[in-house]
Amino acid sequence: MPRTVYLDTMASTPADPRVVAAMAPFWSETFGNPHSVDHAVGWQAAEAVEKAADTIARLIGAEADEIVFTSGATEANNLALLGLAGRAPPTRRRILVSAVEHKSVLSAARAAAARNGLTCEIVPVDQNGFIDPDHLATLLSDDVLCVAAMAVNNEIGTVQDIAGAAAACERVGAHLVCDAVQAPLALDLDVARDGMATLSLSAHKLYGPKGIGVLYVRRDVRAEIEPQVHGGEQQAGLRAGTLPVPLCVGFGAAADILLADESHRERARVAALRDRFEAGLAALGFPIRFNVRTGRRHPGNANVSFVGRDGRHLLQLLQPRVAASSGSACASGIVEPSHVLRAIGLSGEEADSSVRFSLGRFTTEADVEFALEIIGQALTEDAAAEAV
Ligand code: PMP
Repeated sequence: MPRTVYLDTMASTPADPRVVAAMAPFWSETFGNPHSVDHAVGWQAAEAVEKAADTIARLIGAEADEIVFTSGATEANNLALLGLAGRAPPTRRRILVSAVEHKSVLSAARAAAARNGLTCEIVPVDQNGFIDPDHLATLLSDDVLCVAAMAVNNEIGTVQDIAGAAAACERVGAHLVCDAVQAPLALDLDVARDGMATLSLSAHKLYGPKGIGVLYVRRDVRAEIEPQVHGGEQQAGLRAGTLPVPLCVGFGAAADILLADESHRERARVAALRDRFEAGLAALGFPIRFNVRTGRRHPGNANVSFVGRDGRHLLQLLQPRVAASSGSACASGIVEPSHVLRAIGLSGEEADSSVRFSLGRFTTEADVEFALEIIGQALTEDAAAEAV
């Protein structure tokens, strides 16, 4: 097998071996249904789920009873937006959504509005992906149900001022719905301090397993959310269905690792590697443009436009040696240019020439050097093919 350097950690992270080890006993030893209340096998499973919820809650400054497990962040975002819209008071008819949200927020917000007779309005961002707080303030009034603004962008890495947005929402009694999927590797979250009404996370973006996410629901907001999955009374009726204990445990173990001091060191190490990678790209001698220029950015994110080249074609030339992404993975296969890059002012052509590289816990210096070499070769090959 040829070596593959994986620079797509914002699409998915490998499960940390410590996470896999923590999950192991929960497949066939402690296998009970955590909702079986009549026997010790069920209690043990329930205890493991409770412990995981408690650890995830600590990661974001919440309490365990504010954590609702879902199948991932897509479902969490759907629950937040469809749930709030389903119980919207007659006076609150508007949903505001930032222009750079993930598709699972944009689509859910549109569906939530259409189903419930609300409007869905897009909040523009500047060339670095930031919402202008003054502009947001002019859009906000007491007819707004909620504002969806992500904490860290999955394509360009921009770290949004979520606390500021939440405070602006609070002034008019609106809720801040926050997709924080990419945040835990970039910053310390504290929902109690920052004041979001809901917050979505996904385990496979933080070295946990795929297929599990959570929606944090602030205690006073709980009754305002209409359940979207109907069935048993699991999770206090907010999301029915038997919980996947191994996945919950894996999510908890991944959160536990992030709570340890090492996560701060890890951010600094990854940022230094990313900076080395960007400097190396610039030194390859081909015209490139860094799509975002801000210090408030995810430590592992590098979004680069290879001027005049086709990003998707370049990614093909890199196979199987370097894995990176054109826009968000969820948009792959759709031929439209990235809505995020368009929202920060890139033309369709500039967006199509862009590649997102994302580095993480298991990226090494040798990986960065190898990737730079392969990218240099691909650019040379692409330019030569064009010259023929
Ligand atoms: N929001 C963001 C910002 C994401 O990056 C992703 C994953 N691409 C999601 C939501 C969806 O998460 P999941 O894969 O858990 O459904």
